[in-house]
Amino acid sequence: AKNKGRNGFCYFTPSMQEASQKRMLILTDLHSAIPRGELEVYYQPILNLQTGAIYKAEALIRWRHPQRGLINPAEFIPIAEEHGLIRDIGEWVFCQVASQLKTLQAEQQTRFQISVNVSPLQFQGLDNCLAHWPVYLEKHGVSQDNVIIEITEGLLLEANDKVAEQLLHFARNNMQIAIDDFGTGYSSLSYLKKFDIDYLKVDKSFIFHLAADSDDLALTKAIVIMAHQLGLKVIAEGVETELQRQLLLEMGCDYVQGYLIAKPMPADQFAAFLQAAR
Ligand code: C2E
Ligand code: CA
Ligand code: CA
Ligand code: CA
Repeated sequence: AKNKGRNGFCYFTPSMQEASQKRMLILTDLHSAIPRGELEVYYQPILNLQTGAIYKAEALIRWRHPQRGLINPAEFIPIAEEHGLIRDIGEWVFCQVASQLKTLQAEQQTRFQISVNVSPLQFQGLDNCLAHWPVYLEKHGVSQDNVIIEITEGLLLEANDKVAEQLLHFARNNMQIAIDDFGTGYSSLSYLKKFDIDYLKVDKSFIFHLAADSDDLALTKAIVIMAHQLGLKVIAEGVETELQRQLLLEMGCDYVQGYLIAKPMPADQFAAFLQAAR
């Protein structure tokens, strides 16, 4: 909250002023980030715990700013969402992913799936910009089941007819759906079946203290059991230690993603990583 000055006026502390100035600068430059080719998609491998194979990855956007260097999405995605830029960015990411899948296909990695983060705002607006995604994949010769759509629980909570229709449209077209940051929101569990969800991604806040916090361990186990009862697979994110991997393996978790396996990396490095892993 803003501090109240002596005369009752609100004033910004220097750090708040700095932060708001930074946001302004980011917003100004973000408009031209796509046309200037400053955005880049990184890929983080997702390991199948039971087989040890890697046939999935998450696409994570980065911004290579000419002066400020690499900017993480946490800094600019919220600004893009606030100022109506997220739809263009989301479309751009999706096209990059489709082209990456085409490359993987050419290397015979036909079973490979890439998951894409989709902002709730991309589901809004009169022109549904997501509707053409299955068609786009088909047109570019990419199998539709190679794409996983990552949404957050919040979207399901406020799911109106349009959201429901779009999710089912994805599902009918063989695209898969994952719930990101599972356990941190308030979604009603009944939605998991209603919308043909395929994966739950256990939020990394549960995974970080898995070995030390018995509550986090119990919750994660409960999520795995529930997911499997409903026919869903579980991806644990933020896995950094061997002990966490071991605990997740023991409780029957299906996939892990995290620095223990690899950090998100640029497409060329990712291709080399896969080569080495095969
Ligand atoms: P997220 O979807 O929950 O992505 C996982 C985040 O955890 C990524 O941060 C990833 O780099 C980080 N991470 C992965 N493994 C580990 C680990 O072992 N330890 C720790 N400490 N962190 C790990 P990143 O790439 O900075 O992305 C942050 C968030 O930005 C994402 O969270 C997602 O919500 C959003 N985001 C990223 N790319 C996109 C995009 O293309 N579109 C939209 N709408 N949002 C995106
Ligand atoms: Ca995600
Ligand atoms: Ca499905
Ligand atoms: Ca997440």
